[in-house]
Amino acid sequence: MSYLVKNYNRKKISFKSGKGSYLYTTKGSKYLDFCSGIAVTSLGHANPQLIKALNNQAKKVWHVSNAFIIPEGEELAKKLVQKTFADKVIFSNSGVEATEAAIKVAKRYFYSIGKPYKNRILCIKNSFHGRTLATIYASGSKKMTEGFLPKISGFDHIEFKDSQPRFPNIRKRIKKTTAAIMVETILGEGGIKPIPDKCLKYLRKICNEKKILLILDEVQSGVGRSGDFFAFEQSKVKPDIVPIAKGIGGGFPIGVVLMTNKVANAMKPGSHGSTFGGNPLAMKVGSKVMDIISKKSFLNNVKKNSKYFHNQLNNLKKKFPKIIKEIRGRGYLIGIQLFKDQTSFIKALMKNKLLTIRAAENVIRILPPLNVKKNEIDQAIKIISKVCLKYK
Ligand SMILES: *Cc1c(COP(=O)(O)O)cnc(C)c1O
Repeated sequence: MSYLVKNYNRKKISFKSGKGSYLYTTKGSKYLDFCSGIAVTSLGHANPQLIKALNNQAKKVWHVSNAFIIPEGEELAKKLVQKTFADKVIFSNSGVEATEAAIKVAKRYFYSIGKPYKNRILCIKNSFHGRTLATIYASGSKKMTEGFLPKISGFDHIEFKDSQPRFPNIRKRIKKTTAAIMVETILGEGGIKPIPDKCLKYLRKICNEKKILLILDEVQSGVGRSGDFFAFEQSKVKPDIVPIAKGIGGGFPIGVVLMTNKVANAMKPGSHGSTFGGNPLAMKVGSKVMDIISKKSFLNNVKKNSKYFHNQLNNLKKKFPKIIKEIRGRGYLIGIQLFKDQTSFIKALMKNKLLTIRAAENVIRILPPLNVKKNEIDQAIKIISKVCLKYK
């Protein structure tokens, strides 16, 4: 008997502790965790450096209102700005708060330059930007909006296709009232589908042409997950606004919207806020995560080892061409697309002590911690191979 609302289909397994890439159940069995709380525990479980950062701060001060200057937040903001395209940031506590704030900033920018009629956001149909009323309508997914009338207006949609052109008729979808295009650089929930560099460049070009803003949702793909700090970096595209969250807290809830000065200037005292956003405990953990992940050597390691993982998975695809349709994604944001429904496959992986998570289009999402060891990758490959053999 559970007193929790059944808004999740929870698997009947619980964990009492974790260490690095492993989780230990309440009954004492050991699981290889390649789900990482959905790209959250970016530096593994019980990371000693993060424990130290959290414990040290816990002895000092946990929470201070944003009515005061919070030095721990200033410190993380500075690190984020120094290492990225951004000039300014806003802190919050989750991915959806970051994407929703990104939308607010875009609207507010056009308001501040005397064009308040430019307030609509163009998104990809069936993308994922979180679960608030606004963002479910931004995602434009029938399943997520079911039962939640009235519709929150202000969002238009384009298709993202595997064929050419990837964004058919996009120019026609941009109206005089459009403020921004908002897309996930790599569609996560949608099935681990990277937007090709060329297409990102094309979106930037259109935004420049139409003088509208480009918001790249990197809540899942950001903070080293792709092998670069942001997934958009390899395209050389410069966005205006980027929400991040999952990986930046390493397990502590943090959301951040990064932005250029141009749009940041539109925000004035009172135009946005959060009670918990940017509290000292969160900021100290985030700072430590940032120190570790933003290092070139760390990211190079993610690139190198994830390439090995992709190669091994592609070998499995060759070995089991009737089971595995495609290996998708970049870095440690990996999707194994099957020909048929992936539910029983994920169950079988779990039986063999490997935790993964589903995504759309029959995809099994593989999200190891970014500091996963090579022998742990080998172990996962062995398990996936074993489950494939049984499926033959
Ligand atoms: C997870 C996710 C969100 C929402 O984050 P929450 O922390 O669950 O609110 C938004 N955008 C993308 C791309 C995500 O993957």
